Amino acid sequence: MKNIQKIENVVKISNSYKLALNNNNLTASLAGLEPTLWRDGKYDIFSLIAELKTNNTFVDITTNGSALLPFSDKFIGSGLSKCRVSVHSFDQKTYSRITGKNNLNNVLEGITRCSQNNLTMVINRVLLKGFTDDIPKGLEFIQKTNINLKLYDLWWVKRIDENYSKYYIHWQDIVSKYITENTSHTEVKYVNFHRNRIIFHLKNGGSVDVKQFNAEQHQRINKCKNCVFNNKCKETFASYIHVFPNGHLTFCNLREDIHLDLKPMLDKNISETELSNYLKSRFNEVIGSDWQKRLKETDLRFYINEACNYKCSFPNSEGYGSLWCLSSIRTNESWNTINNFEEEKTANNII
Ligand code: SF4
Repeated sequence: MKNIQKIENVVKISNSYKLALNNNNLTASLAGLEPTLWRDGKYDIFSLIAELKTNNTFVDITTNGSALLPFSDKFIGSGLSKCRVSVHSFDQKTYSRITGKNNLNNVLEGITRCSQNNLTMVINRVLLKGFTDDIPKGLEFIQKTNINLKLYDLWWVKRIDENYSKYYIHWQDIVSKYITENTSHTEVKYVNFHRNRIIFHLKNGGSVDVKQFNAEQHQRINKCKNCVFNNKCKETFASYIHVFPNGHLTFCNLREDIHLDLKPMLDKNISETELSNYLKSRFNEVIGSDWQKRLKETDLRFYINEACNYKCSFPNSEGYGSLWCLSSIRTNESWNTINNFEEEKTANNII
């Protein structure tokens, strides 16, 4: 049995976080592994969205899109402020080799139907070297549907270390090759603490969006400067707040060892005010005295279950070291990785 987050806990954490930040415009992001598979007794994903919205929280979701077409009416009527769909290739063969599924057309049809019915749709795409020839097809699709395509560099994790350089390609290479010639104008969205966003507005509608890693910012943040993954990581500490089904709240993708354990408090059914006070004091300790300003730029993301119907892997590789989906990295593995790295660092002085 895979772990899930209970509906009352997701709502309680989200309300307490909102209270701690004094932020009435909070968006809770529902993600990983595949949120549409989430169930808590009689509740499904649409009940969870409705419950968060009843609590005056905006909600968005990241999904692989497999439920989009069959449940398009529910998605359209759900009140989601945004729906992100992972489409890691616009070529059916490559898509199948990555995901193990043959339903690309179905996913794209679901995106089109939802977009035509005014649900804001975004496509997330992780770039894999050698498997980007389909980008023009993708550009055609996003221009036709007038939606946004987000390009992500492959994220390093220890288990894909051997494959990493083989499949890594910087988004800049893709922008130069395919995007620039289709761009009417470029916009940069600046933030103070994390990564700026560059948006390429396309001539025929739609846009392409990338995040720009800021190495100087990385060095200014103590947690990052002294981190064992400093030269592998492309984000900054506290650019995401993640909450996992085991009750751990973390501050970045690679350091699950730096976390708050909310489970004992949730088990005791503490009040939202008490939980909010706990968060305030711990954020101050872990992030620093400017935590409120920094978290204003941060997404609150719930990994609501530990199940997925896809197995996103490198197209030409098999096995454990081929599973690159960042969402599938779970606590024990992350901690072991950190311990191994600490040992290697001491033994070889390599980092
Ligand atoms: S893993 Fe976390 S602490 Fe380490 S450099 Fe990245 S953001 Fe900073």
